[in-house]
Amino acid sequence: MEEPRRIQKLDVSVVNKIAAGEIIIQPANALKEMLENSIDAQSTHIEILVKEGGLKLLQITDNGTGINLEDLPLLCERFATSKLVKFDDLSSIATYGFRGEALASISHISRLSVITKTKESSVAYKAYYMNGKLCNSNFKGEGQPKPIAGKVGTQIIVEDLFYNIPSRLRGLKSKNDEYGKILDIIGRYAIHCGDVGFCCKKYGDPIQQLNTRPNLPLKERIRTVYGSAIANELLEVDTEYPELGLNKCSGMITNSNYNNKKKIQPVIFINHRLVTCEPLKRAINSVFQFFLPKDSHPFFYISLEITPENLDVNIHPTKREVRFLNEDEIIEIIVNNIHSVLSSVDSSRKFKSQT
Ligand code: ADP
Ligand code: MG
Repeated sequence: MEEPRRIQKLDVSVVNKIAAGEIIIQPANALKEMLENSIDAQSTHIEILVKEGGLKLLQITDNGTGINLEDLPLLCERFATSKLVKFDDLSSIATYGFRGEALASISHISRLSVITKTKESSVAYKAYYMNGKLCNSNFKGEGQPKPIAGKVGTQIIVEDLFYNIPSRLRGLKSKNDEYGKILDIIGRYAIHCGDVGFCCKKYGDPIQQLNTRPNLPLKERIRTVYGSAIANELLEVDTEYPELGLNKCSGMITNSNYNNKKKIQPVIFINHRLVTCEPLKRAINSVFQFFLPKDSHPFFYISLEITPENLDVNIHPTKREVRFLNEDEIIEIIVNNIHSVLSSVDSSRKFKSQT
């Protein structure tokens, strides 16, 4: 028999690369993290530029608070964040980020650079990162932020994503598919974040693929992202049940005139986080079965505000899934509300056609 192999601690750089690969699986994951950072920084306008499905270039420019020069050395360090101090803060966290992992991860699997300016600073600074640390403009050796001209806000430039994980690159779908996922994420945030304008362009293509102004009404935002067929058939949802921790449930659903043979993934936000909530999605879809022809699908956008203490946002590395207290009861309340919204228009339509 062979001797047992010795247990050894992994090198930090290996640990970081493994962790990065778990959080950033495809370009859209990196984009989502950066969008959330821009929103956390109180931006009202966010511009996204994409080359080759985000694999060659993913650039996000915002007009948010910017980053202090003194903080730039820590920007891409793992578990360095301006948003969380104690573990208990997690229960009341209002920002998207909290783990300080996103930029660190991205810097381990791409060439990342930043241009940022706060309103107090007279100049902007540009900094380059490799494996969590500042480096020089060739992405080698050591480096320091350099002053340059620029506007208040932050631009994050991610180049050659996954250049050092060839297996990941090979496993990805086509560049067009990756681009589609990026546009999809931006569209969802554009619907939810009404006070932010979003603009997305493909590199070298003057046409804006998506463009929303800040403070457009919800219906118009849905029109911009999903088109008039959906926007013309929307009903409002608005309910609450604070006793169970549901402080607000709002959104829009298509009425029974709209029946699409194609499934459109619903847009679900819980405490302003884009999530997949399978139980809620399934329950809502099943109410629609009473109102829609067989094999046709609705569209819905639902935003829940759950008492923060009742919500666990830290159950998944990508933060895609969340858990909350009284889940079954809350889902039932929402479903009942949607049922009554749909049946009220259904009966008024019957009534109209009779007279
Ligand atoms: P987290 O969002 O969990 O704190 P990140 O790695 O995403 O971790 O970001 C690290 C820190 O960098 C943030 O806490 C924030 O202070 C700063 N930061 C990142 N992106 C921006 C941005 N667009 N504008 C201002 N600050 C930013
Ligand atoms: Mg973040």
